Amino acid sequence: MAVLVPPPLTPVPPAILIPVLVAGLGACIGSFVNVVAWRLPRQESLVLPGSHCPRCGTPLAWFENLPIIAWLALRGRCRHCHQPVSPRYPLVELLCAGLWVAVLLGHPDAMGANPASLPLLLAGWLLVSWLLPLVLIDLDSLWLPEPLCRYGLLLGLVVTALLGLPQGAAMGKALLLSHSLAAAAGLLGFEALSALAEKLMGRPALGLGDAKLAALMGAWLGPMGLLLAVALAVFAGALIGAVGRLSGRLQRHQPFAFGPFLAVGAASVWVLGERFWIAVAGFSAGA
Ligand SMILES: [Zn+2]
Repeated sequence: MAVLVPPPLTPVPPAILIPVLVAGLGACIGSFVNVVAWRLPRQESLVLPGSHCPRCGTPLAWFENLPIIAWLALRGRCRHCHQPVSPRYPLVELLCAGLWVAVLLGHPDAMGANPASLPLLLAGWLLVSWLLPLVLIDLDSLWLPEPLCRYGLLLGLVVTALLGLPQGAAMGKALLLSHSLAAAAGLLGFEALSALAEKLMGRPALGLGDAKLAALMGAWLGPMGLLLAVALAVFAGALIGAVGRLSGRLQRHQPFAFGPFLAVGAASVWVLGERFWIAVAGFSAGA
């Protein structure tokens, strides 16, 4: 009699498993980013009370907190009051998941020649997760919260020191100095630009929050990274601004948030690396 032997379980290859796990973790952080973006401008505690429906106030069960899945399972409605829940929540979770995977697969070169790979990965996840609530709050209220910018800047310098010093004292000091100078240059450069634009146009053109965000970016990316990220932001901002004006969605002199463009520039430079963008710039200039 033939004995049925169950086929051996094929282990999931780590090449797939790791990005899936990272996406799941990123989605959970995205869920917290939603909380920060909602509560920080309202000066509510980030921890207490636990998650609740913003419409009826009912506390959410653990499974209602599952990122993306809960929204899909409940078809975008609160289980208690049946009011619609904005698709922004699962979209932010999805975006954060994607950013975390992008950081996993990325080639950052802002932290010297030989940073330890795991701390570098953690640093990248911290950076994108820090930028995301700034983007959401700026989109909601044209405001970049000062504490988020300030602590983000300090974190950037701490991360630079932690990643730089193990590469040798000289490398560590050089990195920390260049990133500190980039932070100062970002702040002062944007403040000068803002003052100049206000003089020329007779009205405020750039928010001061943008200067603080640029300082944060300098602390994380260093001088060249900051320059590339700002160039990307200006390019993308001009493009989207022109499309907005031409399509009539943006009125003349209507302010729009520049922080999201800066953040996209910063994330792009972190993930793809300075060398990639320098190559792109060189190619565009040569073409
Ligand atoms: Zn509700």
